[in-house]
Amino acid sequence: MDEFELIRRFFVRDTEADDIVLGIGDDGAVLKPPADREQVVVIDTLVENVHFPGCSEPRDAGRLGYRAVAVNLSDIAAMGAVPRWMTLALTLDRSDPTWLSGFSTGLMAAADEHDVQLVGGDTTRGNAIVVRVHLTGFVEPGTALRRDGAKSGDTVYLSGTVGDGAAGLELMTKPLDAYHTEQQFLTERFWKPQARVQLGRALRNRATAAIDVSDGLLGDLGKLVEASGVGATIRVEDVPLSQALTTCFDEDRVLPLALTGGDDYELCFAAPAGLPEEIAGVPVTPIGTINSEPGVRCLLNDEPAQFEHQGYVHFQ
Ligand code: ADP
Ligand code: MG
Repeated sequence: MDEFELIRRFFVRDTEADDIVLGIGDDGAVLKPPADREQVVVIDTLVENVHFPGCSEPRDAGRLGYRAVAVNLSDIAAMGAVPRWMTLALTLDRSDPTWLSGFSTGLMAAADEHDVQLVGGDTTRGNAIVVRVHLTGFVEPGTALRRDGAKSGDTVYLSGTVGDGAAGLELMTKPLDAYHTEQQFLTERFWKPQARVQLGRALRNRATAAIDVSDGLLGDLGKLVEASGVGATIRVEDVPLSQALTTCFDEDRVLPLALTGGDDYELCFAAPAGLPEEIAGVPVTPIGTINSEPGVRCLLNDEPAQFEHQGYVHFQ
């Protein structure tokens, strides 16, 4: 199976989308952006053994495809935009039809959940699996959610629960034990992050600043407050945790995973206090306040607390 057959078999689909003048097959895609929208473009790369464990087994391929799209959807969500078109740059060490079939099924499943169309890409051979998805979305002019609008006195909110993705990644290499249902929940949270697209849309007129939690809550909130020229204090006991996380991990591991582990893809945002407990079907929890002192501080039952390693940093 050569490059062109591979593209035809696994990545070309019939579409009647009227905003795609020319899709996969020519030198470039020709697309019709809506006249009255701003474009939001994001890109994310997943490298085997850096962002995910070795993935040569066909059964791993589907979840890798899903995750590659989901992490980009999460960036679009954090901007308050509607995702629409994506391109895929794929590097593979071989072309195994079973693997590719699983991969494209997972990729398309994540795309279909948000009506995203694959409009092009690039396929190359290399020594490791590298998946790069580029996604374009649209937002009403002037309404994109940004990192730089948080104000002193705002409340810090968090969607869903944190710590699950990092916990799932850690558990993946361990045999299933008595808590296999909880373990499976956590590994699913790593492989199948649910991008908070509808929540992001609903926050456009409510949040003053937003970021998606990909590298760890404290590190990502740190980026938000730095961009906004403010600081934050977090009440650690209010950070929402899943029952699976507290079941599978000892007390001394739970908080570091929740505060500094990555891969959750929840939204952390600042807004004036008083939001409902659920927005767009997603629980949102107040976890602290924005103030004028730079940096992020943690209080655990009103006492200052320190948590090392503020998120994942490449080339550190
Ligand atoms: P070129 O040689 O002009 O760069 P390619 O031969 O790489 O074009 O690709 C042919 C067509 O297939 C292009 O429309 C490209 O966007 C598309 N394509 C290539 N790889 C992928 C992929 N992995 N997924 C989706 N579309 C792809
Ligand atoms: Mg090419």
